Amino acid sequence: MILLTFDDCRILDWASLLPIMLRSGVRATFYVSNQATIDSDGWARLSDLRAAGNSIQYHGLNHVYAEQVRDWTNT
Ligand SMILES: [Zn+2]
Repeated sequence: MILLTFDDCRILDWASLLPIMLRSGVRATFYVSNQATIDSDGWARLSDLRAAGNSIQYHGLNHVYAEQVRDWTNT
């Protein structure tokens, strides 16, 4: 299984992938950042991606290294 994900806020680039994703049967999860900057066209394109079977999820506020969030030495 291959898990395909994209993150940040390159919605127009993602939307341009939709035709080839549909042709090839590929689905992905898009983690969206900077939600306050997305205009109505951007939300419409995200809606198109979702309607095509992709998952739209929220992105964290910052790119934080996992080692800074949790001590992984005892797991
Ligand atoms: Zn990111």
